[in-house]
Amino acid sequence: MRFIEYGTIKKKAINRFALVYPDVYKAGNSNLGLHYIYNIVNEKDGFSIERFFMDLERSIETQDMLKNFKALLFSLNYEYGVVNLLKILKKNSIPLRRSDRKNHLVITGGPLNVNPFILDDVFDIAFIGDAEKSLVEFLDIYSGLNDPKKEIDEFRDIKGLYIPEIHKKSKIKRRIEKLDYHPLYEPIQWGEFEETFKKTFLLEVSRGCRNICSFCLTGNALGPYRERSKEELIQIVKEGQKRTKFEKIALIGSDMPSSLNETIKDLSNLGFQISLPSLKLRDITENTIPHLKQETVTLAPESSEHIRAKIGKFYKDEEFFEKIKLIKKYSKSVKLYFMFGLPEEENKDLDETINFIKKSKKIIRTKSSFNPFVPKPHTPFQDHKFDFNELKKKEKYIKSHIKDVKIENLKGAFIQYVISLGGIDTGRFIIDSLENNRNLTYSSFKKAIEKEEIVIPSKDREWERIEVSF
Ligand code: SF4
Repeated sequence: MRFIEYGTIKKKAINRFALVYPDVYKAGNSNLGLHYIYNIVNEKDGFSIERFFMDLERSIETQDMLKNFKALLFSLNYEYGVVNLLKILKKNSIPLRRSDRKNHLVITGGPLNVNPFILDDVFDIAFIGDAEKSLVEFLDIYSGLNDPKKEIDEFRDIKGLYIPEIHKKSKIKRRIEKLDYHPLYEPIQWGEFEETFKKTFLLEVSRGCRNICSFCLTGNALGPYRERSKEELIQIVKEGQKRTKFEKIALIGSDMPSSLNETIKDLSNLGFQISLPSLKLRDITENTIPHLKQETVTLAPESSEHIRAKIGKFYKDEEFFEKIKLIKKYSKSVKLYFMFGLPEEENKDLDETINFIKKSKKIIRTKSSFNPFVPKPHTPFQDHKFDFNELKKKEKYIKSHIKDVKIENLKGAFIQYVISLGGIDTGRFIIDSLENNRNLTYSSFKKAIEKEEIVIPSKDREWERIEVSF
């Protein structure tokens, strides 16, 4: 396996930070948030930052070990990242609890910080919301300190920072920025490394979403919707080309901007292959699909027409099939994403979903996957119960009615549920289990809930201290 990265920054500096993605390289390096932090810290005089991933023992930039860095920045995007963060600290003999740590500053950021409290005993600082500017302000102050861990109070006035030792029980406002910064150095894989976004520049076209689906964190807690103009996007790509090497461009955003058609056309004319990892139905047109040259187009019908309308997606089944017919003209297959276990869902909704898949298969090669619905904080569905037994029955029902569907592991989804809506007690349970070498499994979390060691959703609903409104 050849590991060839272009865009890697190898910089010597007094302040060396570690940027840790608590998952494997393939997942982490295709995360645009990681590239934002990588660029912002490296752009600052006197600072450098090196990347760590779970499948690589040492940093990519200098092959150094994690414990040799004083500030460790963790990017939290998925629930498993919380447990992985703790496992990484443990593996590197860095104390998990803030109160036991003398030398290392642990900092977290990312969308999961809409509920940072599960790690309340762990991190020194959590960045809440968009971190482009708060990170710069943090670095400015950091560079003037002798011992930032002891002088943590100096960071207290930076907006969007939650420092447990200072802010105690107060409310924290999520920081929201305009999209006026974009990373230009993106370490990109060119080797024989199987990576989703190989040779691909990640271009953030928008942030937030104009829809507010009842289950979705992006719509409810990561807004408002902001987009970049076509001119800005072309400029970023041209500047990016001067600093790194890429052949393809992935347009990143949950909701594509109004200039999508022209942007795709102009970027294709510059010689790039364009991909859209997430596409809304309205974006599938004769103006977009032919330019994308994607073998597979991904759609998210989510559920039956009835449930779809309940969650705030008002597309009819027929509209999907019209688009699938259009996709067939230019692509080989579709991938369909569904959820099961949404509020008010009945077996007739599953039947409709199954029929939807069968109908799609008659038009084009179709791969489908079902994810059990995991409620998220700050969404209208946050109090919906994750009923494991009920979901198990539904899983069986789906499997007995249709073959070739992928169903996400229910036990894994249950752990996501616990972490998503957990509070300080859940964090302590996880820390204690890891410190005492006890496995963290579906059964261990289930038993902890039964014995009332932890309460899900958290009894204190700590996440309500984060003001996400926009
Ligand atoms: S359209 Fe997609 S990204 Fe937007 S709120 Fe709904 S699920 Fe979330």
